[in-house]
Amino acid sequence: MFKGLSILEFNKQFKNNDDCFSYLVKQKWPEGFKCSRCGFEQHVKGRTWHHRRCKNCKYDENVLANTVFHGTKMPLLKAFHMLYRLTAKKKGMSTIELGYEVGVQQKTAWLFKRKVQQMMKEDQKDKIGGNAEADEFLQGGYKSGKGGRSLENKEAVLIVCEKLGDDRTGKIGLRHIDNFEAATLQCHLLEMTKPDVCLTTDSFKSYEPLQSEMNIEMVKSEKGSAMKELHKQIMLFKNWLRGIHHKCSKEHLHAYLKEYTYRFNNRNKRNYIFHELIGRMMNNIPHPYQYLISKCGCNA
Ligand SMILES: [Zn+2]
Repeated sequence: MFKGLSILEFNKQFKNNDDCFSYLVKQKWPEGFKCSRCGFEQHVKGRTWHHRRCKNCKYDENVLANTVFHGTKMPLLKAFHMLYRLTAKKKGMSTIELGYEVGVQQKTAWLFKRKVQQMMKEDQKDKIGGNAEADEFLQGGYKSGKGGRSLENKEAVLIVCEKLGDDRTGKIGLRHIDNFEAATLQCHLLEMTKPDVCLTTDSFKSYEPLQSEMNIEMVKSEKGSAMKELHKQIMLFKNWLRGIHHKCSKEHLHAYLKEYTYRFNNRNKRNYIFHELIGRMMNNIPHPYQYLISKCGCNA
């Protein structure tokens, strides 16, 4: 059903706001109407052509109600254009560029992008199994700080890379971590991996106690020469963050980690993620503004 979208096809399919509304109507009620309040399946005409008024409880529901698009102030066509640009480019876009191209203020673009990032969350299929490598790295803090695992001015990130047979990377997982304690690492590793995963880590002491509960092989890091592919992935992430977002505050690091992971794990179906993200936006309720601008629960 979902074809990839070139810019020409996008412009042909979405010429005005009504085209976008009609696409969303099909997304929201694919098998016909079902009232979100009472479940009744018959409706009459609502306030506009994209409203449906329930015949039973009389709730007049806009297609945008109870979706992430609810409360979007800009015309829907602009929102679609932004989403298209965010998904069509391999690396994404800064909100300055995005605002400029679509003709909205940077703040509007930023807020919309935050909503999209919230939809880029992992699901069960992103869990990493088989052979994988894990390590931590530091991000940010451009002042010269202490070396090693000191967190002064910097944020710590835990990375897991799935290792395919020919040494290529499959999926990745990234998490902003508060410290390097065994319990913290374990909690995040369990979230990102399947129970059958075989992890390789360096010889950092916090991994030791985990060996009794998880399948972990610790190897000597030899200044990064072990786990080469994983270190390449760390460099790619850092370059992406610097290149697209220039700087990223501590509060929002988790959102960028989420965006990067989603882009990376869906790198072979870039043309499809526009439709996938719209589907997710239609099936989630919007986060309040305060939530979007705060550091929302680490992995929310
Ligand atoms: Zn109803």
